[in-house]
Amino acid sequence: MLLHVEAVFYFFRHWESGESTIEKRGDDLKRDIKQILHSVMLENKLSKEEIIFLLSDGFSDKRELLTAADRVRKQFMGNAVHLRGIIEFSNYCERNCRYCGLRAANRQLKRYRIEEDEIISTASESVALGYRTVVLQSGEDSFYEADKIAFIVKRLKALPGLAVTLSCGERSAEEYRLWRKAGADRYLLKHETADPALYKQLHPDMTFDNRRRCLYRLREADFQVGSGCMVGLPGQTLEALADDLLLLKELDVEMAGIGPFIPHPRTPLGSAPAGTVEMTLKMLALARLLLPQAHLPATTALGTIDPSAHRKALQAGGNVVMPVITPQRYRNLYEIYPHSTTCQDDNPDYGRRCMGKVIASLGRTVAEGPGHSPKPPFGRMRVVRVKMEG
Ligand code: SAH
Ligand code: SF4
Repeated sequence: MLLHVEAVFYFFRHWESGESTIEKRGDDLKRDIKQILHSVMLENKLSKEEIIFLLSDGFSDKRELLTAADRVRKQFMGNAVHLRGIIEFSNYCERNCRYCGLRAANRQLKRYRIEEDEIISTASESVALGYRTVVLQSGEDSFYEADKIAFIVKRLKALPGLAVTLSCGERSAEEYRLWRKAGADRYLLKHETADPALYKQLHPDMTFDNRRRCLYRLREADFQVGSGCMVGLPGQTLEALADDLLLLKELDVEMAGIGPFIPHPRTPLGSAPAGTVEMTLKMLALARLLLPQAHLPATTALGTIDPSAHRKALQAGGNVVMPVITPQRYRNLYEIYPHSTTCQDDNPDYGRRCMGKVIASLGRTVAEGPGHSPKPPFGRMRVVRVKMEG
């Protein structure tokens, strides 16, 4: 592996020095890349330098990377695509993330909370449409004391065969434990960026350390943990993106949501450029190679910047889609970023059928079960190894 890294640096050195080595080294480099991809497919490991190289413009054979990820997805996760229906139950938020339209400082936004009975009836309709997971997502809204959420989770878990994912932001270890005890199966808390300085700039009232701490609390509470990052944030370097992937690997996440940053006009980052489809697809493909058994959604954000990209993501390692099933009258109010039109319509049945068509057109199927993580629980491998060595 070291040899490959050296070859990559050889390429950079000569490239930067202005020698026309690209042509001379073309075949060699191609072979090195092939070896790097071959080896990551076997070992699911990449060094930070290798990740940075694969994300850089110097690496032009993007297709090879995406194809490798598609093969690994097929081998480890099969052809089924999991549907997770998102219910955005409150757009109140006490935080001020500089990229997000729900930030507290956006006073032009009309706020809502969906009544408990309506949450349950929405979930119940989604079960009838074939959904086996609902994701309950909200801004950081302390109106929902831990007991309130626990109660909703219990009611949702009474619906037949329904897995429940929560995505309600940072909370204490006790609260996470209570929600897990109430029956919530999974928790989605994206780390957003693994660059602590950039994290601080983007989240004036939060810290990366606390984000990370919350992710470990979720691990301790025995959730299937989803995390992830945005791609193309203003000031984000390739090194930071490599750290994002390495953090997801360290956390050994069951799910990783990797989507482009999309500027929202009513935020301080409203005029910044959006993340690109190309970089997001590369990040997704690398996540698949590093975490072969993680669930990786083709994010709605990707569909927002390019409707065909959603499809491309399913061919670059993705195996999950997350249609919004929030009742129509709230949808325009949950505007974390300007909305995607991918498979969105007033009729909840439409989204389901539309996604089904996209999935079938790729020769894939819609998963029938709840789509729990197939990988060993966090830490299990390590414990086994320690025992064997002892
Ligand atoms: N409040 C919760 C969950 C809701 S926000 C939380 O923050 O965890 C869900 C996700 O939307 C965030 O994790 C973030 O990654 C994403 N998001 C917010 N604003 C965005 C933007 N402008 N572009 C892309 N993704 C964004
Ligand atoms: Fe609130 Fe989440 Fe948006 Fe941050 S990203 S402002 S916590 S909804």
